[in-house]
Amino acid sequence: MKERACVKCHLIVYGNICPNCKESSLSDDFTGVLIILDPEKSEIGKKMGITRAGRYALKVR
Ligand SMILES: [Zn+2]
Repeated sequence: MKERACVKCHLIVYGNICPNCKESSLSDDFTGVLIILDPEKSEIGKKMGITRAGRYALKVR
Protein backbone atom coordinates (compact mmCIF):
# COMPACT_ATOMS: atom_id res chain seq x y z
CA MET A 1 0.00 0.00 0.00
CA LYS A 2 1.14 3.51 -0.77
CA GLU A 3 2.08 5.69 2.13
CA ARG A 4 0.00 8.76 2.75
CA ALA A 5 0.11 11.59 5.22
CA CYS A 6 -2.60 12.60 7.65
CA VAL A 7 -3.83 16.10 6.79
CA LYS A 8 -4.38 16.87 10.45
CA CYS A 9 -1.25 15.74 12.31
CA HIS A 10 1.00 14.96 9.29
CA LEU A 11 1.78 11.43 10.44
CA ILE A 12 2.73 9.16 7.54
CA VAL A 13 0.46 6.14 7.56
CA TYR A 14 -0.14 3.03 5.46
CA GLY A 15 -3.75 2.38 6.31
CA ASN A 16 -6.95 4.31 5.68
CA ILE A 17 -7.09 6.00 9.04
CA CYS A 18 -4.54 7.84 11.10
CA PRO A 19 -3.71 5.83 14.24
CA ASN A 20 -2.62 9.03 15.93
CA CYS A 21 -5.70 11.26 15.70
CA LYS A 22 -8.23 8.90 14.03
CA GLU A 23 -8.47 11.27 11.09
CA SER A 24 -9.48 9.62 7.82
CA SER A 25 -8.43 12.50 5.56
CA LEU A 26 -5.14 11.28 4.18
CA SER A 27 -3.20 12.79 1.30
CA ASP A 28 -0.61 11.24 -0.98
CA ASP A 29 0.47 14.75 -1.94
CA PHE A 30 3.05 15.52 0.70
CA THR A 31 6.66 16.67 0.72
CA GLY A 32 9.50 16.18 3.16
CA VAL A 33 9.78 13.51 5.78
CA LEU A 34 10.53 14.24 9.38
CA ILE A 35 11.42 11.38 11.68
CA ILE A 36 10.57 12.01 15.30
CA LEU A 37 12.15 9.54 17.66
CA ASP A 38 11.57 11.38 20.91
CA PRO A 39 8.86 14.04 20.69
CA GLU A 40 9.71 15.39 24.14
CA LYS A 41 13.22 16.27 23.03
CA SER A 42 12.46 17.45 19.51
CA GLU A 43 12.09 21.20 19.02
CA ILE A 44 10.51 20.71 15.59
CA GLY A 45 8.21 18.11 17.05
CA LYS A 46 7.07 20.54 19.72
CA LYS A 47 6.51 23.26 17.13
CA MET A 48 4.37 20.92 15.08
CA GLY A 49 2.51 19.70 18.14
CA ILE A 50 3.76 16.14 17.74
CA THR A 51 3.36 13.99 20.81
CA ARG A 52 4.02 10.58 19.33
CA ALA A 53 7.16 9.12 17.75
CA GLY A 54 6.96 8.30 14.07
CA ARG A 55 7.46 9.60 10.55
CA TYR A 56 5.80 12.86 9.64
CA ALA A 57 5.40 14.85 6.46
CA LEU A 58 6.63 18.42 6.53
CA LYS A 59 3.99 19.65 4.11
CA VAL A 60 0.66 18.06 3.30
CA ARG A 61 -1.61 19.40 0.58
ZN1 LIG B 1 -3.40 12.26 12.18
